[in-house]
Amino acid sequence: MFKEPGYPIKSKTAPLLKVSGKDAHPGAKARCNTNIKAMALAAAENTSTDHFSSVILYADKITEKFGSWLRKSLGKNGTLIQVYSGLGHASRFYDENNRILEKHSISEDRHSSYYEVYREDNAVSLFPFPGEEHDQVIELVKMRTGLSPSPGKPVFHPAQSVCIEKEKSDALSLHVLLVNLSSKNDPVENLINRPVLPYLGSICRWDSGPANCERLDTVIIDRDDNIKTCWNGRPVGKVGMPYGKIAETLEQLRSESEAKKGCRNCDRDKSCSKCIFPAPLSGGEYCYLKQYTNTDRVTKLIENLNLVKEV
Ligand code: SF4
Ligand code: SF4
Repeated sequence: MFKEPGYPIKSKTAPLLKVSGKDAHPGAKARCNTNIKAMALAAAENTSTDHFSSVILYADKITEKFGSWLRKSLGKNGTLIQVYSGLGHASRFYDENNRILEKHSISEDRHSSYYEVYREDNAVSLFPFPGEEHDQVIELVKMRTGLSPSPGKPVFHPAQSVCIEKEKSDALSLHVLLVNLSSKNDPVENLINRPVLPYLGSICRWDSGPANCERLDTVIIDRDDNIKTCWNGRPVGKVGMPYGKIAETLEQLRSESEAKKGCRNCDRDKSCSKCIFPAPLSGGEYCYLKQYTNTDRVTKLIENLNLVKEV
């Protein structure tokens, strides 16, 4: 049964989020909005066919190899979002990292830094560094938690939270939400009159596409230099690999995935994002849900509302 979303996590290690962002510098707020949208894998404003719009880097140290690769791979107005593994590492490596980025023509206004603070229930707060602007914190929240009811005041601001799927129940909570909203007579009015949803990091798979794995706007780079197109995706390349080669690898993975699932003979062939990394769902579970429910319209509506959502 559908549950109203809420934000029930109470932090042991991090301060509670300020719900109003009124005092933040407008430029910093705009950058925060761009970063959250990138983390939610939303379509970028300035898309390019041969460069990334955003690169999310999980690393404490930026290497010369990374700097040189980024210079070639990031679009002219593209942004780098770096996530440090803690405040100590951010303080230690920030200046040296900036020096390397500067050398490779990535100016400070295209580079945002955060450090992770782990919270209860698998939630992670990303605090901006340097600075203490709590209205620019990004919360990565487990999907089921982000969509669960909360009896009290929300702890997480929905415009600053991105829901990530960790377990199958996370993926199913999102699907149930979309199916319930789709069944309403007027999903537009229903969405407008309900509490604002957080960003939903894997909503793209319930849409008709094109998803980030097709647009190739944003990539996530893990601590082993693997390049991924979504939070639960498998690596599609390594730092150093040219954009074109990554696009080619993705195309090959897509063809293999479509052949395996039998997309050509499926009724949804023309209206499915054909998720190539459906984890935590299996490929069979994903196709079953896609074939027996239609979530396209409501998914598009939520994605359009995300475009106007601001911190
Ligand atoms: S539901 Fe499955 S088989 Fe059908 S088009 Fe989508 S991914 Fe392909
Ligand atoms: S692989 Fe699936 S979850 Fe990842 S971007 Fe593509 S559609 Fe979205």
